[in-house]
Amino acid sequence: MTPVTCMAGRRLALFGLGGSGLATARALVAGGARVLASDDDPARMEAARAHGVDTGDLRAADWSGYDAFVLSPGVPLTHPEPHWSVDLARAAGVDIIGDVELFCRERAHLAPDAPFVAITGTNGKSTTTALVAHVLRLAGRDVQMGGNIGTAILSLAPPAEDRAHVIEMSSFQIDLAPSIAPSVGVLMNITPDHLDRHGTMANYAAVKARLVAGAEVAVIVVDDEPSRAIHDQLVAAGRPVVAITEGLLPGDGYRYEGSCVFRTTGTITRQVADLRGVGSLRGVHNAQNAAVALAVADALGADEGAVVAALATFPGLQHRMEEVGRLGRVVFINDSKATNADSAEKALASCEHVFWILGGKPKEGGIESLAPYFPRVAKAYLVGEAADAFAASLHGAAPYLHCGTLDRAVAAAAADAAASPHPDPVVLLSPACASYDQYRSFETRGDHFRDLVRALPGLARP
Ligand code: ADP
Repeated sequence: MTPVTCMAGRRLALFGLGGSGLATARALVAGGARVLASDDDPARMEAARAHGVDTGDLRAADWSGYDAFVLSPGVPLTHPEPHWSVDLARAAGVDIIGDVELFCRERAHLAPDAPFVAITGTNGKSTTTALVAHVLRLAGRDVQMGGNIGTAILSLAPPAEDRAHVIEMSSFQIDLAPSIAPSVGVLMNITPDHLDRHGTMANYAAVKARLVAGAEVAVIVVDDEPSRAIHDQLVAAGRPVVAITEGLLPGDGYRYEGSCVFRTTGTITRQVADLRGVGSLRGVHNAQNAAVALAVADALGADEGAVVAALATFPGLQHRMEEVGRLGRVVFINDSKATNADSAEKALASCEHVFWILGGKPKEGGIESLAPYFPRVAKAYLVGEAADAFAASLHGAAPYLHCGTLDRAVAAAAADAAASPHPDPVVLLSPACASYDQYRSFETRGDHFRDLVRALPGLARP
């Protein structure tokens, strides 16, 4: 835990006692702050009290005495409309902050030069956060990883000069961290998502921009318009920026192509990594993630040879292009996290001959945008609510089978892939849909797929 000692003796209100909210309340109390915490769920209030946190009704509280109001990132700050607690805090002129802001203040108080990597973007945050943490660890650093991925930031060990924090940040967390100034700020990409919570694309991009604007070094993938604009603004302002692209580099930086990453310094360009054969980093999007990891590690002075070697041993994350096993030539991949067409596109682009399991609760737009990849689809296996709509999209472009459920889909896809003459057939679960019609979450869907695959006789685990 990181006790928030910089708030010792202060009075704070807190709303939202879910996972990170409770961790925040406990870290504040451990640091000596006086906290009044609240939540709509009485069970969460009870759990907080069991951990020594005072709870109460913030509607009835005297807001004039609070030094800050700590909001959980899941509670609306602006869109679709501010939560009532936000209105009360604003009316009383109380600062509204989140757990990352408390971490930043504690870092400034304890160890202002402690390495702090903050990673944001619409897609690829978790994979890249895990990859950066992995390569830094193998390069010999003491690393704490968390934030939006896994452990809440204030549940990690405190900042220290010789300890790197690698933190995934959603836009909601950036919104609540006004003083964020990481050693390295990473922006992966900006595509329309969560506009329900940010109103407009311009607002969404402005939130993401704040993370890199305050960074000592900004690492920016410049492959979409909003990210490139942010890069150009920082360069114009004379800020240190490392660009990453699949296209033409605007100066020094990293370029990725296929499975390779190249580095340009001045007039010299050299290949630094080739990810062929690294099962956990399949696909050109993972070459991008690797380029980001190389840039971050370099900004922190890590040994490049050790970092490149570490890429090959990245275990990968569950449900994101996760290699579950092999049966002869057939490889089985769990990409259950691909809950929309954009993410499934990355998976299809990284496989040549696919026995594709898809479907679930459909998202707007369906899979029409994936048509350029249909020639790679040896056969599609349709499950869940989206089956009819997806069949209509695939009709005439790729063969498909209505399977209804994942168990039938896995059995059929495994049999067809085994009979395929192709040298590298892939059975891929990349649903392009939410899971809620049949599962509690994309994790339970992916776990079910993994169990079904592992039950196939003769399966070799990676
Ligand atoms: P996030 O934490 O931002 O949701 P994840 O690492 O969990 O990102 O990946 C989510 C989905 O996005 C996965 O299906 C993955 O294939 C895809 N993805 C991973 N890296 C990238 C990237 N650099 N650009 C675009 N999509 C990516």
